[in-house]
Amino acid sequence: MNLFLKLLFRNRLAAMGAVVLGAILLLVLLTPFLPLQDPDVTATADRFKRPFTEGHLLGTDHLGRDLLSRLLHGTRLSLAIGIAAALIAATIGSAIGIIAGYFGGRTDNIIMRGVDMLMAFPYILLALAIVAALGPGLMNALIAVAAVNVPFFARNIRGITVGLAGREFIDAARLAGMGHGRIILTELLPNVLPVIVIAMSTTVGWMILETAGLSFLGLGSQPPQADLGSMLGEARSAMISHPHTSIVPGTMIFLIVMSINLLGDGVRDALDPRLRSGALSRPRATTLVERQGEIPEETDDLLAIQELETQFHVGNRIYRAVGGVSLAVKAGECLGVIGESGSGKSVTALSVMGLVASPPGVITGGAVRFQGEDLIGARYETLRQKRGDRVAYIFQDPLSTLHPLYRVGQQLAEAIQSHHKVSNAEARARAIRLLQDVRIPNAEARVDNYPHEMSGGMRQRVGIAMALANEPDVIIADEPTTALDVTVQAQILSLLDDLRRDRGLAIIFITHDFGVVAQLCDRVAVMYAGRIVEEGPTQAVLKAPAHPYTKRLIACVPELGGGRRALAAIPGLPPVVDNLPEGCAFAPRCDKAQENCRAGDVTLKGTAPRAVRCLYPEVAV
Ligand code: ADP
Ligand code: MG
Repeated sequence: MNLFLKLLFRNRLAAMGAVVLGAILLLVLLTPFLPLQDPDVTATADRFKRPFTEGHLLGTDHLGRDLLSRLLHGTRLSLAIGIAAALIAATIGSAIGIIAGYFGGRTDNIIMRGVDMLMAFPYILLALAIVAALGPGLMNALIAVAAVNVPFFARNIRGITVGLAGREFIDAARLAGMGHGRIILTELLPNVLPVIVIAMSTTVGWMILETAGLSFLGLGSQPPQADLGSMLGEARSAMISHPHTSIVPGTMIFLIVMSINLLGDGVRDALDPRLRSGALSRPRATTLVERQGEIPEETDDLLAIQELETQFHVGNRIYRAVGGVSLAVKAGECLGVIGESGSGKSVTALSVMGLVASPPGVITGGAVRFQGEDLIGARYETLRQKRGDRVAYIFQDPLSTLHPLYRVGQQLAEAIQSHHKVSNAEARARAIRLLQDVRIPNAEARVDNYPHEMSGGMRQRVGIAMALANEPDVIIADEPTTALDVTVQAQILSLLDDLRRDRGLAIIFITHDFGVVAQLCDRVAVMYAGRIVEEGPTQAVLKAPAHPYTKRLIACVPELGGGRRALAAIPGLPPVVDNLPEGCAFAPRCDKAQENCRAGDVTLKGTAPRAVRCLYPEVAV
């Protein structure tokens, strides 16, 4: 709630709307207690008094009634009717929408065709027809306005519900034996409630206008009762001779509708969960860079990550996801990056091409050099040209990275055509060749499959094919086999290994599995809490791990036929990176930790390519 208000008031216009609307609401709530004249008492002698005359702050109307008193009473009525209409329309419309969306099929069809019929009539005509049938009067105007708005809510909420009704948590509720009523109330309603609130906040103003419109035409409030619409209607004939009689209610309508709309927009933005994590702005095309300190020198590696620091700035918290990481690969080399979940592997990988979402991500130091050129400071255009062309990514879950509505061939062709001018036929031929390269059987037919028609292993092959589409120099694979079973994993690994040997690809392979590293990588870097704690040639690290963390990670890998070795888990959890301990981050979980481990910064030491960040390493390096 607090967060909601903070987000809401960060939006200046919404705050202004809230203040104006609050003032108006306060005023109309207090109206009965204010020393006002009776709004309906006529005094023909006092007709058309100008504003600021004695006893009539806003003047009088054509019957000599006090305008201030009529304005406040009228506003009270108009607001009450508008809000009541909105509540009624929202309740009925949402109920219809949820029922149609949840039950689907014939129920949905019948209900929604009825709603469509209502929508087919022009809005105001329908309202007029309803009032004409029921007879003029404020209550009937309310019914008419509510009725014409029901379809709007029904359509909106049905759309959302249809999307939700097919989701797994609804299936789970059904499996748990819940009845329809309970599922709708406890599973669906909480999910659509924010949407209902947003739809209401953006339509209340509209409904107040509609009610005023009906009253203006003489179909709403009946004389002598004042509401904003009828006041405007009565002032119509004196618009030129005595404009203040129109300006007073007109200004009030303007203020109300304006403030409600501004506030409504603000509420919508603040309720949108995607806007909560960061600021009220869209992620940028590249990660924000705010580098302090010196930029490291050029090296002769193909891709070099140098002293990279990436942070997340959320509110006044700073999460140091990557705290000074240096890694490098040469052509044809495979570097493994290993560490527990949350150790900063993905953020490191995404920082390379400026793909960390900003806000909240900020690169605060270091450099990433591709063939010597610094990518961190590079312009968006430069990065865009290299993304997917020179440096390509393979992600963990190919089902979420492939577009569900396009055939895989089209998606491969798109990846090619976004960097090279080739004809559609040529791109398709190349897509087929890529699928063959990643050993998808019967590639000519498979190229026309949709992602959901493929198995997980096959989709990941498509992901790899897409990464290979433009013959990149570097592939960054972020846990590409984690979602796959072991046999498919082995096939994917041998495929990557072949590709690297055949094409001289450099691969940065991110995983949390030492077994995978052992199969594929020449060198390995171990990450913990956003820093490298050990690195070296894979065999050397595996045989004689120097950092206690590495040693325990390796002990976590089960060995087939390895006898009855007790599997060791590492007790405790990795630290949260917004509040890192002083000294070695692993010290709280390390049984070798001494006093001085917790004191100062521990540096990465050793003889290249071997290095360890530990004061008491298991072996000297
Ligand atoms: P992994 O090694 O599992 O790939 P990540 O690189 O995804 O870990 O995450 C590293 C750290 O960054 C984690 O501690 C995580 O909490 C933090 N982090 C990642 N994304 C965000 C975000 N959008 N806001 C705040 N912290 C984040
Ligand atoms: Mg990750």
